[in-house]
Amino acid sequence: MTHKILRSRQTKILATLGPASNTPEMIEELFLTGVDIFRLNFSHGEPETHRKTAAMIRALEAKYSRPVGILADMQGPKLRIGKFKDGSVMMEHGDIIRFDSNPEPGDKTRVQLPHPEVMKAFEMDGLFFLDDGKVRCRIREKGEDKHGSYVIAEIRAGGKLSDKKGFNVPGAYLEIPALTEKDKADIKTALDIGVDWIAQSFVQTGDDVREARALIGKNAALMVKIEKPAALENLEEIVSLADGVMLARGDLGVEIPPEDVPSVQKHVVRYVRSTGKPIVVATQMLESMITSSRPTRAEASDVANAVYDGADAVMLSAETAAGEHPIRSVEMMTKICARTEEDGIYINFMEESNMESIGNPSDAIATAAHYVAQDIDAKAIVTYTVSGSTALRMSRQRPGVKILCLSPNIDVVRRLSLAYGVHAVHAPEVQGEFSGPVPHACTIISEQGLAEKGERFVMTAGVPFGVAGTTNILRIAEVE
Ligand code: PGA
Ligand code: MN
Repeated sequence: MTHKILRSRQTKILATLGPASNTPEMIEELFLTGVDIFRLNFSHGEPETHRKTAAMIRALEAKYSRPVGILADMQGPKLRIGKFKDGSVMMEHGDIIRFDSNPEPGDKTRVQLPHPEVMKAFEMDGLFFLDDGKVRCRIREKGEDKHGSYVIAEIRAGGKLSDKKGFNVPGAYLEIPALTEKDKADIKTALDIGVDWIAQSFVQTGDDVREARALIGKNAALMVKIEKPAALENLEEIVSLADGVMLARGDLGVEIPPEDVPSVQKHVVRYVRSTGKPIVVATQMLESMITSSRPTRAEASDVANAVYDGADAVMLSAETAAGEHPIRSVEMMTKICARTEEDGIYINFMEESNMESIGNPSDAIATAAHYVAQDIDAKAIVTYTVSGSTALRMSRQRPGVKILCLSPNIDVVRRLSLAYGVHAVHAPEVQGEFSGPVPHACTIISEQGLAEKGERFVMTAGVPFGVAGTTNILRIAEVE
């Protein structure tokens, strides 16, 4: 007999798997500690490793009869420098370095930069950053040689640079394809593995999203990563074309000044919430726990702050993928989420920022269900959903109780692992008026430990059942 898995928080946890955690034992422990959906990071590791890891997750899912989401994160057109003769070099403040397209490995005086489209975007006296902003350079001279364009730059902040480190040209719109050949191959692999979500990196325009959608279709949900200034400018269109959003603060915080990141987070989370699509806040959330068994106070605040903002999910990156304390990181994140959700100020924030009804009947029912549940102290809101949209509409309301989402579609159930407050269960379709669905819901509520005999729940549905269309009914019932 396996135990019931019912989270005592509404905010979801997305955790990245990697060398520190991609074994069946670790994945099971991470799941039991609180991970709702796992991220396979295609920037690292072989496709075959990801395939094996995904199989471990599916085995776990079967063992506990609980859906567990899988998100495949594409590397995207991340810009990288080339290699060095000795693997790395030390760059000192004031050094004058040449960046060129010469295919020879670099050294102390020159760095290989195999991106002609970036050379084009470079401006005199402009800044660019290496290794997530650790090394900063200012352009002093531009020119052409037999390999193409080159620039001479002055190092403004030094540091060690090793092979293939990333680099950013903040603010520049780069004419680079949204999907690299590697991305295209990885999307194929991810779809073949049967992942639930695919995340697209460095999106800049609506067309970038359309390109990914054309490959993915409806075979997985599409998450766009907001990590370029251009994506902030085109936010509405980009979000309208996606199924979910990640605020990817790692790259974003290099592309825009760090002091801009908090307010951008508030605005993006609020905007995406208003659309009813899941929003994830990501990167460096418990960064110091990569090596330390406790987070800094600032990190604890950061996780709590994302919860106060009303994010659907918070993410762990290297903390669980390559750190020394993957389990403790999840434990800490779980505690911070749960504790924050209990706070009266949080509850007020969620009430005050209640999303206005969009004005269609389904949405009006979701709004009403939230209030009715509150008034009668219901223990759960039950929704039957085929496409998942009813569940997301309910989730958008951020009710204080669990949303039990019943769907005959396993893909939908798995995708909802990311959605705030949703406890999704794969259940067959029930036909008829309420005589069938109400007892059916009661059984599942009891089985899942959501409420006890005599406690009330609210149910929304489209009647007649089993017919896709608008939600038009709200019902109060008691667990029998
Ligand atoms: P990455 O994305 O970890 O794939 O870079 C997240 C981020 O940039 O914050
Ligand atoms: Mn990134």
